[in-house]
This record gives sequence, structure tokens and C-alpha cells, in this order.
Amino acid sequence: MIDVLVSGAAGRMGREVVAAVTAADGMRVVAVVDTGHPGVDIPDGADGSLACSGDLAAAISATPPHVMVDFTHPDAVEANLRTALAAGVDCVVGTTGLPESLLAEIAAEAPEGTALFFAPNFAIGAVLMMRFAAEAARFMPHAEIIELHHDRKADAPSGTAMRTASLVAEARAEVPPAPGAETEIAPGARGALVEDVAVHSVRLPGLVAHQEVLLGGQGQTLSIRHDSIDRTSFMPGVVLAVRSVGSLSGLVIGLEKLMER
Ligand code: NAP
Repeated sequence: MIDVLVSGAAGRMGREVVAAVTAADGMRVVAVVDTGHPGVDIPDGADGSLACSGDLAAAISATPPHVMVDFTHPDAVEANLRTALAAGVDCVVGTTGLPESLLAEIAAEAPEGTALFFAPNFAIGAVLMMRFAAEAARFMPHAEIIELHHDRKADAPSGTAMRTASLVAEARAEVPPAPGAETEIAPGARGALVEDVAVHSVRLPGLVAHQEVLLGGQGQTLSIRHDSIDRTSFMPGVVLAVRSVGSLSGLVIGLEKLMER
């Protein structure tokens, strides 16, 4: 039985994680932490509930878990990871906004044998969208990314867009000329350049998490799109990561690393 602590348990993702881990075989939620909502009861989806602690270190020492799952905030995740890893707890991280270089630094400073798994997107379809975009960019190097999220998202561009830009940049042999912005009437109209790939971030109520990669070639375009229309889309990936993280060590990034093991 894998004992799991969910950090950010009162949030949109955290609540889904509590229910998904409770429903999965071979794992259970032993503690829930949310500094913004201490004392709040989180339903486990099976007629039970757990009360949120406001103190991660205290929760870990009261009920030592094997794995911490963190869906919190870009400003909070680094301290949470350092606390959990120092206590020998493997980490599954969905919180976006931290550069990969900082994740690598945190993992390098963690005790020997601990693992830090991060996926910018836990939805299987999004992993495939990134893979197809990278494959397409080999032959159609002109690519731009439009990512669309709900209006409460803290970071922009999204972790998925950052990762996709990096995969596209890695895959294409030539960098096409920078997108034209000679007469940018409103600053930012041409998006942000991430590794020379233009990324456009849309934030609107009603959205969950969506991304379209547009590739252009002579007389043609190719669109590769993924839509998470519900946060349950991320849960099979989170459960897979909880199941797998004990057999990893150091920093591992991307759900694709676990899908074909
Ligand atoms: P959310 O609804 O704001 O939930 C985050 C929760 O964490 C809130 O209850 C927040 O409290 C709490 N919190 C803040 N600091 C904390 C700390 N130090 N320790 C414990 N809890 C803390 O956000 P969300 O929509 O669930 O998203 C959470 C993160 O997951 C974001 O970074 C988002 O981009 C990411 N995400 C990743 C994926 C993926 O597949 N990788 C998918 C969806 C979302 P307050 O309300 O007081 O701030």
C-alpha cells in the first residue's frame, strides 16, 4: 500500500487527486495539507473525508507518507519539495511555473534515493499532442503555440506550452526567421518567444486547459490540438506517477517517461 500525502488538497486539482488516489488500488491518502485552508474537510469520494493540515512538516512527521503529490502554487512548491524530500518522501509534482533548472537543483540537493517526478501535463492526450507537435516540427519548422486556460491560473505561459516550445525547438533542424513584429501596434500582440517559438496565452472563465500547436508550410497549415474539458483528465496520469515514483531516483520529467515502462 502506497501512503500518499496530498499538498494543495483544497484546490481544484488537489480535491480530484484525493478522490483519484482513494479510488485507485494499492494506494491511499494518509494526510492532506493546504496552507490556505487549514481545517477544511476534503471529501475522499468514498463517503469519507480528511481534514486539511496547514503545516506540511508537521503532517509528514505525524503520518509519514511514501509519496507527496503537490498541486499548489508556483510560489509555494519549492519549499514544499525541499521539506518532503528532506524527510525522505518521494514527490509527484504537477504545480507549474518552476524552471526545470531549479527542479534539477532541488533534486540534486535531496537525500540519496529520493525521487522528484514532474509532469507539466498529466493528461495522456496532452502528452501525445506534444509528441505529435515535435514530430511535425521536424518537417514543418514554422510553429506557434496557443494555450488557453481558466482565468485563475497563476502562471503564463503554461508549463505545457513551455515544454512544447522546448520540444519543437529541439526537433526542428532549422530555426525559421523570427515571426514578423516590425509594426506591433499593441505590445505583446505577437506573443512571447520561448526558445524562438511564439507562444500566446489566453485566460478566460469557462476554460480548463487547452492547447493548439499551429504549423505552417507552403500553401498549408497543420493544427494539433488537445482539450482537457474536465480535471479528471489528469488523474490516470497522477495515479500512474504515484505508482511509479518509488522505482525512480533523482529528477524525472514528463509522463511519457512512465507510459511505456
Ligand atoms: P488552486 O485551485 O489554486 O489550488 C491550489 C491550492 O494550494 C489552494 O487551495 C492554495 O491555497 C493551496 N496552497 C497555496 N500554497 C500552499 C502551500 N504552501 N502548501 C499547501 N497548499 C498551498 O490551483 P489548481 O488549479 O488546483 O492548480 C494547482 C497547480 O497545478 C497550478 O500550478 C496549476 O498550473 C497546476 N496544474 C498542473 C496540471 C498538470 O497536469 N501538471 C494540471 C492542472 C493544473 P489558496 O487558495 O489560499 O491559495
